[in-house]
Amino acid sequence: MSMNVLNLPTPSFMQDEDIVLFNDSVAKWIDDHAPPEKFAQWIAASSVPRGLWNAAGDAGLLGVSMPEEDGGFGGDYRHEVVIMQQLGWKGADHFGISLHNAIVMPYIWHYGTEEQKARWLPRLQSGELVGAIAMTEPGVGSDLQGVKTTAIKKGDHYVLNGSKTFITNGQLANFIIVVAKTDPSEGSKGMSLICLETDGAEGFERGRNLHKIGMEANDTSELFFNDVKVPLENAIGGSEGQGFVQLMQQLPQERLNIAIQGCAAAERGLEATLAYVKERKAFGKRVIDFQNTQFKLAEIKTKLTVARVFVNHCIEQHLQGKLDAATASMAKYWVTDIQGETIDEMLQLFGGYGYMTEYPIAQLYKDARVQRIYGGTNEIMKLLIARTL
Ligand SMILES: Cc1cc2nc3c(=O)[nH]c(=O)nc-3n(C[C@H](O)[C@H](O)[C@H](O)COP(=O)(O)OP(=O)(O)OC[C@H]3O[C@@H](n4cnc5c(N)ncnc54)[C@H](O)[C@@H]3O)c2cc1C
Repeated sequence: MSMNVLNLPTPSFMQDEDIVLFNDSVAKWIDDHAPPEKFAQWIAASSVPRGLWNAAGDAGLLGVSMPEEDGGFGGDYRHEVVIMQQLGWKGADHFGISLHNAIVMPYIWHYGTEEQKARWLPRLQSGELVGAIAMTEPGVGSDLQGVKTTAIKKGDHYVLNGSKTFITNGQLANFIIVVAKTDPSEGSKGMSLICLETDGAEGFERGRNLHKIGMEANDTSELFFNDVKVPLENAIGGSEGQGFVQLMQQLPQERLNIAIQGCAAAERGLEATLAYVKERKAFGKRVIDFQNTQFKLAEIKTKLTVARVFVNHCIEQHLQGKLDAATASMAKYWVTDIQGETIDEMLQLFGGYGYMTEYPIAQLYKDARVQRIYGGTNEIMKLLIARTL
């Protein structure tokens, strides 16, 4: 259940037989469908192929934590943890499945009407629909209450106007939760979550697939809404003005996801670094034989162990419904800072090879940077924590 690079026991909540079996099947699925050589092609193409989503749906990986009463397989957040960890450990975490599964779909099963659940969940589960959530705008990121996109009621539909940017899965998504003001005269109280099925939606346009310094195989895009008609039945839960509250309730899980991904990526880095320093020679010795290397790696292993123990604590809290926003923010900010710091130090131990993109540590270095930015910047995490002081 782990990379064994930290010598930590598997937490008891991850030891159930079905979780262990699921872990093995996810590992095999990634080996078969998203091996490193394919990922290299997808990085060059700046996107995974659309078919990967359908294959994930066929394998039962989409919506894996959806409750049984909504048609799910009886999975829970532990199954999402398995997917996120395996993708991270295998270097396949550009595939935006955790956003689809553990961010987008829960909005529907938590807040959707029965009609909305029936209309969307099976199609999100099969891969017919690929999910995205569009909060950020060119002029508004951290200060979410200031979104300018509007969804104004007109007869039996809303008219959606505005633009979004940096949207994960933005090129492939055909189901987008749009954060919009249904009452532009209000701040947070005027915000609603409006679902847009993009196939055939007039006035909807995708901008560029944005060029990023890392996470290249994830399609990240601008989206434009120009008088797009959306049926009134597409406001999540059939309600207006609840968007901000719903976002605030769900963002702790998004932040925990990022922390879990951060741990998995840094653990992968440590495994790769250990293998490298045991092979590479300088001054007639292996690089690991220098005391500096041993001390650096001892520090890194300690930091990653502390991070993992805290993240496991947060997962356990979350499984019991007790993870609060401030603790999730601590995990997001602290783990992603540690991820960036340790991967930078690991890269140093590779010397010049660490700077070459064909070495996984270079990719991990590039990918780590955004972790401190998205899902709420680490500064915003500190604001949330500071409120509890
Ligand atoms: C690869 C990638 C994927 C993304 N995916 C998505 C997605 O799927 N959906 C989505 O909606 N968004 C997504 N985002 C957007 C992301 O969530 C935002 O970039 C982030 O929230 C920051 O907003 P901003 O870029 O507008 O920065 P700004 O809000 O302009 O912040 C600029 C700087 O000011 C600091 N700052 C702002 N306010 C304060 C404050 N009150 N106190 C102290 N410092 C402050 C910030 O921390 C930051 O350092 C993604 C971004 C990236 C890069």
